This record gives sequence, C-alpha cells and structure tokens, in this order.
Amino acid sequence: MSATSYYYEQGPIRPPSEAGSLLVRLTRNCPWNRCLFCPVYKQDKFSKRSLEDIKEDIKNMAAAAEHIRSISAASGYKGVINRQTLSLIQTDYYNLLPMAFWLYKGGENVFLQDADSLMLPISLLEKILGLLKAEFPSIKRITSYARSRTIVRRSVQDLVNLKKAGLSRIHIGMESGNDKVLEYMEKGATSSQHLEAGINVKAAGLSLSEYVMPGLGGEALWREHAIDSAALLNKINPDYIRLRTLAVPTVCPLYDKVVAGEFVPLNDDGIARELALFIENLDGIESFVYSDHILNLFEDLSGQLPGDKNKMLEIIYKYLQLPVKEQEIYRLGRRTGHFRTLDDLDDSAAYLPVEQLHRTLKDKKTSVDNYIQKIMMQFI
Ligand code: SF4
Repeated sequence: MSATSYYYEQGPIRPPSEAGSLLVRLTRNCPWNRCLFCPVYKQDKFSKRSLEDIKEDIKNMAAAAEHIRSISAASGYKGVINRQTLSLIQTDYYNLLPMAFWLYKGGENVFLQDADSLMLPISLLEKILGLLKAEFPSIKRITSYARSRTIVRRSVQDLVNLKKAGLSRIHIGMESGNDKVLEYMEKGATSSQHLEAGINVKAAGLSLSEYVMPGLGGEALWREHAIDSAALLNKINPDYIRLRTLAVPTVCPLYDKVVAGEFVPLNDDGIARELALFIENLDGIESFVYSDHILNLFEDLSGQLPGDKNKMLEIIYKYLQLPVKEQEIYRLGRRTGHFRTLDDLDDSAAYLPVEQLHRTLKDKKTSVDNYIQKIMMQFI
C-alpha cells in the first residue's frame, strides 16, 4: 500500500507539553473564537467532524503504524521501531515519519484537537476514546483542550465517564482569575466558571492543566491579574500551572486596541514584576509550574509548589536586580535563542554576540523593546 493513502487530518496547534503526542482531530477550530488575545483560529469557522471521518482517520493511523512495523520486520528488526527503522522511513517513506516517531517514543500519548473537544456529546467522545485504545493498546495518556464554560455544562459523572473511557487530562485556558481581565478580553468564561470547571475536573479524577497568561492585564490591571489568578489557582490546586506570555500579533483583535492606546501591554520588566507577584501569591497548593512556552522570558521558571516556590522567585528577583543593560542583553539573548537561563549571561561564548547586537541597536537608536516585539511575533 502506498504511504500517501494514510491521510489523517490534523489541526494547527497543541499544548507545548503535547509536542510528542499523536494528534487526533475531533473538531475544527474554536466554537467561541472571540478572545481578543488569541490569533489561532480567527479566520476559520468552527465545525464538528463526523464520527465516520474520525473513525477513518484512526483506521488510517493504525494502517500507517502497521506499515511501519512491516518495514521494520522486513528489515530484520522484528517490527520494533528503532533508530534504524526511523532512518529507513526517513529515506523512503517520508509521509510515515510522524507516525514512526510517535511509535519510536512508545506510542503512549494522544492529544484530541482542536480547541474544545468536550463540546461534543459525551457518548461520542467515549466511542472515539474506545476506538483509539483498541487500535493502539500502547496508549497511556489521552488529553484535550476544553473551555471552562463547556466543562461546567457537563456533570462530574460525565467527566468520570470520560476518564473511564480513557481520557487522562484536560488543558484549560484559564488565562486570568480576574473578572475584569476576562471580560475585557472576551474570554467567555468568568472566574467562578473557571473555579467550578477546575474543581469538577479534579473531582472526576482527571489530571488538570491550567494555562495562565502573564501580561494579560496590561499596565492597567497587572496587579489584579497576578493576585486574582494566583487566588483562583489556590482554590483549584491544579496538577499543572503553565505559563504562556501575552504577545499581540496583528491578527489578534487586541492589536487594534494596542494601536489605539486603549490597552497598554507590559514590557518584559513589567512581566517579570507581575510573575513575581503571581508566584508570591500561590499558596497552599502542590501544583507543578511550567514555563514551557517559547514566548516566556524565563524558561527555567518551573518546579513544584510549595517546595520550589523560592527557587522560582529567586530567578525573577535576580533578573529584576540586574543593571538595565544586563536586563536588555538577557532579553535579547533569550529572544534570539542565545540564552536559555540567566546563567547564560556568564557564558562568554553566548554573551559576546548578544552584547554586540545590543551595541548595534543602541548605535542605531533602535528600541530594544520594539526589536524584541518583532522577534516574538515570529514565534506565533
Ligand atoms: S477559547 Fe481558546 S482557542 Fe478559542 S478564541 Fe479563546 S483562546 Fe482562542
């Protein structure tokens, strides 16, 4: 069979933590699609995919996996997907490569796309989860995005049923715990809906990942945003708190408000102050904090609460205490990929080219903030 016949549809995004997951598309785009800060689906209409289409995708995925195993077996590797099998696939069956990589990594993790899978009927989701597990017994974790407003329309029993059927984790874009911020950004969920959704997901025994967006309060509401987001998370105690810093590309409705001066974004120093306030206020929970998005200023701002709280705060305090020039060089180094952590400021091989870039920008009287903004737009 030709490798090109193994078509299965995939959507544009998944959480950073699902980079190695098999992507299974259940719906297209976002049923809400109104958040001012969100660039992802703005040009696209939401639609549900039919069970038949999804079944066809899963069948093609299974056929692709079978083909890969047969290539391995024919090459003397007994159907095992090892590095040698990957090399063969890379050379002769390029279309099979994503599936081969997934199998090579164990074939364990699946992410259901796109933005709000739980708006599908629970019975349909149960069927799809069952099909996936039947075709791929190696699966250990199946996760999905879901909106809080959708989750609160489900009973805890619905969520329990999804867990029984194989769903492991729900990723929620909480973004903020402050109602003014949520309303202004047209998130379509209130802090009390976020709370109820988070509590219900945990009550069902599902793993819960909450996304917070540093910078979303802008200059006007950064304090409230930080304090109320932490307070809400303190009530939920999610398994994971993930940070994804605000960036405002032209396609976002928020862009026009920035141009009009109605929303004033924080620069990196403001974000650092907000992050410090946010983490200082996280209290009484055991969540893991991850800063696993390329837009974030501090990649190493991670750890488990409460034990790693001070370690995380020290990273931010260290940045805030740097001289302005060193702060700018760190920001440039982080955004241009020369630095990963503040310690890289002490690595002369990494430091010198960034210092040179900083000098060039100063000589040309180019704003470091503007330069960084342009780089960040390329990450979206
Ligand atoms: S709910 Fe999520 S995907 Fe939909 S518009 Fe808002 S941020 Fe974007």
